[in-house]
Amino acid sequence: MNPADKLTAHFRIPPPVLSALTKLKIETVGELLYYFPSKYGAQGATKSINALTHGDFATVYGRIISSETKKAWKKNIPMAEVVIEDDTGRLRATWFHQAYLAKKLRMGSIVRMSGTVGGKQANALYMANPEFEEVPSLPEGGGDRLFDTAALALTPMYPERRGISSLWIQHHIKRILQTGVQERMDDPIAKDVLVRYHLPSLANAVLYIHMPRNEREAEAARKRFAFEEVYFLQIERLRLRENYRSESAWNIIADKKELSEFEERFTFPLTSAQKRAVLDIESDLKETHPMLRLLEGDVGSGKTAVAAMSAFAVVSSNASRKASETLQVAYMSPTEILATQHFHSFIKYFKHLDIPIALLTGSLALKYPSKTISGSPTSVPRPQLLKWIEEGVIPIVFGTHALIQKKVIFKNLAYVIIDEQHRFGIEQRGKLARKGAIQMPHLLSMTATPIPRTLALTIHGDLDITLLDELPQGRKKIETKIVSPNMRAAVYEAIRTELRKDRQAFVICPRVFEPDPDKEDALIAKSVTAEAIRLKDNIFPEYRIASLHGKATPKEKEETMRKFLEHETDILVATSVVEVGVNVPNATVILIEGAERFGLAQLHQLRGRVQRSEHPPFCYLATETSSKKSMERLRALVSAKNGFELAEMDLSLRGAGELAGGKQWGVSDIAMDAIKNLRLVEAARKEAIEYVKQLPSSKSEKTKRKLVHME
Ligand code: ADP
Ligand code: MG
Repeated sequence: MNPADKLTAHFRIPPPVLSALTKLKIETVGELLYYFPSKYGAQGATKSINALTHGDFATVYGRIISSETKKAWKKNIPMAEVVIEDDTGRLRATWFHQAYLAKKLRMGSIVRMSGTVGGKQANALYMANPEFEEVPSLPEGGGDRLFDTAALALTPMYPERRGISSLWIQHHIKRILQTGVQERMDDPIAKDVLVRYHLPSLANAVLYIHMPRNEREAEAARKRFAFEEVYFLQIERLRLRENYRSESAWNIIADKKELSEFEERFTFPLTSAQKRAVLDIESDLKETHPMLRLLEGDVGSGKTAVAAMSAFAVVSSNASRKASETLQVAYMSPTEILATQHFHSFIKYFKHLDIPIALLTGSLALKYPSKTISGSPTSVPRPQLLKWIEEGVIPIVFGTHALIQKKVIFKNLAYVIIDEQHRFGIEQRGKLARKGAIQMPHLLSMTATPIPRTLALTIHGDLDITLLDELPQGRKKIETKIVSPNMRAAVYEAIRTELRKDRQAFVICPRVFEPDPDKEDALIAKSVTAEAIRLKDNIFPEYRIASLHGKATPKEKEETMRKFLEHETDILVATSVVEVGVNVPNATVILIEGAERFGLAQLHQLRGRVQRSEHPPFCYLATETSSKKSMERLRALVSAKNGFELAEMDLSLRGAGELAGGKQWGVSDIAMDAIKNLRLVEAARKEAIEYVKQLPSSKSEKTKRKLVHME
């Protein structure tokens, strides 16, 4: 057996398992070995069958006295059922959806089974889906005493998928490891690096992670694989940067005087952080290589104004004048609401220049100015808009993912701005950037999701970072309160107080529609549609209430947002579609229903909606849970001074095994866990820089990174 062998060359794999493996992108022996356990379970104490009681988690040994396939009586599910026997009694075991096991568990063979004991009556106990292993003989003497050592062993538990059980994976990995194939796997990490950080070799780490003899081995293996992932992620990002930076870009020199005149167009003075950011960008744009910069600033720190300044620098620059047509700016946002909002603000800022500005989303194609209605945008035929963009006559184009489509061709794309960049994949960013036909465009990514430094080092390895670490003057700290059900009336009163002052309110609900009453969630999670009606009928009959959610048509959404922005409505009941970027400065209070259902970063984003003016803002987190963990998380939100502090708290509050948050960053759970460890991340970065330095510009080199499978 070799690491590159197809699994099907060595094992007969039933179709449902095969399709699950395909979905997990596991085809070869080596790839399966990179599918790691998400945790380890104890096998439970070894017991004799007559010592079992309902609810026990235990291990038993027995001889198989019957083995057959059946259909489970309720839903006709195929299953395998065996009965085993030891000196003291008999026990039934069933495996749903795994009827084929009946062939494997042959009469007369001896097995060890671990699982939870079900069944009410003493003579009708069973184990459902226990883990099992064939063993050569019944343990001598039977009983509890002799086999406590087995109870200490760690059983790997693999993330399960439809069609594939942890048990299947465990079995096959064990058989693979018994062949010693791990000794023939290429270790992608150089030996001296392993030695430097006391990391186990690949062959050992694979054994340690799948079949640890103790916690220490499992830990060492996890550390190694985390290092490996972070290291290769860094190498990948550094290479990406190197390749991007090796291209040429328009060198854009802004006219200082014009730029400061443009600055006057804002109704506010820029903060000094905003000014610094503009300077950073200006000096990048002057270079003949494309900028790769991340503008990271807490919600409400005013990233749009920085983007507008820099976009102005590009479209008004002499480079733009020299080019046969003007240089183009593409501004991509994750939602239609947001793209529309930015489109309208830019019309305000750029009105005096009399240049065309476009908006292109899945369903909207708008152009400013309109030939017929002066001073406002108008809907135009999509093919016409695409043609204009291709001819280079529209210098600023806003949009959603629609901008990445093949049909969208720019003539002189010089500058790409990505708003809320964490909502896009690195490939999507790249796709837009590659639309620069002549030169590589400069790239500005913006994000309000503050992330811990370790994570930033890992995932933004390709970007220069500018921090907007200052909120505009006069912003009041958001007063955040956790609200239990009995405080509801008081909260509605507090909202009413704001509404009476002519302010506006958001009410955020976890779901769009009333849920299926059969689902257990039904009683708890509030829906936008039902809550809007309830508030109108029972709580705020005197106010104008609208609702907004992702299922509405773009036209409806736009209309709802416009009305709320222009204060034609007072309360907006919405899902988290308003999470990113939505800017309605007159809204000063937000009530978040079912707050425990949202992530901390998401809650922070949501409450950022009401910190956009000089009026004091309020955020109420309504929760019905009293779970200690949830409360602890919500309390972090109350006490954190800013998004960065919150991000660090969030990371430390997460326990191993619940780090699903990594997925959105393209980081596996294992690496996410390691990201708590600054030293490890810094070491991986240092080694990655070294590696890229030693092997510069070998573009054809395949990074040897093995994919760690993501949960
Ligand atoms: P974000 O960084 O979250 O994208 P925005 O760019 O949407 O923030 O800005 C939030 C609000 O703050 C907007 O209403 C914007 O006009 C306003 N704003 C931006 N910069 C300043 C400033 N320097 N002083 C006062 N208000 C500002
Ligand atoms: Mg924004």
